[in-house]
Amino acid sequence: MPFRVETLSMISMLQAAVLAVLLWVGTHGDGQIRTSLRIRALALAVEAAGWGTLAFHVYLSQAQLVMGGNALNLIAQAMSVIALRLLLGAPLRWRLVTAIAVVGWLGVAWFGVVQPDYRYRVLWGSLTITMNMLLNVEALTDGFRSFGTRARRVLLTVSLLAVVLLVWRESQLWFGSDQPTRINVSDDTNTFYLVLSGMQPLFASIGFLLLYSEILQQALYKLARIDALTGVSNRLAIDQSIAQMLAHAQRQHESLGVLMIDADHFKRINDRFGHAGGDKVLQALVTSIRASLREGDVIGRIGGEEFVVLSPGTDLAAAQALGERVRQMVEHTRLPIDGELLQLTVSVGVAVAVAEEKGNAHVLRRADKALYAAKRGGRNRVMVAFTAEDGSHGASVGA
Ligand code: GH3
Ligand code: MG
Ligand code: MG
Repeated sequence: MPFRVETLSMISMLQAAVLAVLLWVGTHGDGQIRTSLRIRALALAVEAAGWGTLAFHVYLSQAQLVMGGNALNLIAQAMSVIALRLLLGAPLRWRLVTAIAVVGWLGVAWFGVVQPDYRYRVLWGSLTITMNMLLNVEALTDGFRSFGTRARRVLLTVSLLAVVLLVWRESQLWFGSDQPTRINVSDDTNTFYLVLSGMQPLFASIGFLLLYSEILQQALYKLARIDALTGVSNRLAIDQSIAQMLAHAQRQHESLGVLMIDADHFKRINDRFGHAGGDKVLQALVTSIRASLREGDVIGRIGGEEFVVLSPGTDLAAAQALGERVRQMVEHTRLPIDGELLQLTVSVGVAVAVAEEKGNAHVLRRADKALYAAKRGGRNRVMVAFTAEDGSHGASVGA
């Protein structure tokens, strides 16, 4: 059912233009994400102009149509590749992207104007698009290593279908019974190709928006689990980490060390340096605690100046030693604040999750009891909850 090429191109032009406006006004973001969205919207506008040359080709010479229309398409493709790579945080490879566009255009101009050959011109254009799609696939799969998230898979499918469409068109041009000699001839191959490639900006934009929303959600998920002041896990994240680590510990028959750490006499610090000064001390305290931890240990802030450390594969003695390392590290670190060097100390309660432990609450409660025993015992010390039942604090180390 051949359709007029001009009508199809007009529809595609309007569709790409509307998508450009929707993407420009309907999205927001900061920094790199914002730039990526802007470039993607502009790419759609350039793509719309490319379709415009085909829709209004009667006003152009064949050379103007071939060279102008393809220049616009190639610029739009290059911009789309850069926008996607920016959104994904992949290396931009802008030199390669530019080279593909320039070489693509030179080849198309050669087979379009200097040595006109429609089939070679289309082949050259198809190879250029395939190279750009490969760059997209490389970025979407982290260098062909993973097939990632749902949105990435949607965009991968769109890219691969675009290549399938090109291969089909090539096979029609080279081996089919119906071999058009120009793009602006209304035959079956051109009609089918133009319908699908005209819809491609729509599919690609939907994929791009899905990816954008997925990236925003991942960023929010991360933000919702981080303590804004100190950058460590917040209560929500720590609760999730304990649940995961407990389950893992039970499967592996390992123990999980839990440290509850509370700054000593913190109210005095706030009284002396003000709340903002106290905040700086808290940040420095986190740096000190972190310096004592191993890789794989997790630290979280669960109260004003109260922190918890989760240490997988750590038995009671090792957890006690870790608590002591933290205590000493904090004690021996002088924190510069308002021109003074402040000495801070912490009290630490230590507990270890037992194999049959079900919920998070028990081990935390035991560590908390040991912490308060450390406070009662005079602060700046480590206390250990020996038994699962009563949290009795049998050992005290420290000043
Ligand atoms: P103790 O040795 O018994 O722990 O004494 P403390 O003064 O540290 O007492 P407590 O732990 O009960 O009090 C914590 C204080 O920490 C109370 C509050 O003013 C302060 N605080 C809580 N959250 C923040 C915060 O985000 N920033 C600052 N600067 N201070 C905080
Ligand atoms: Mg305190
Ligand atoms: Mg406290």
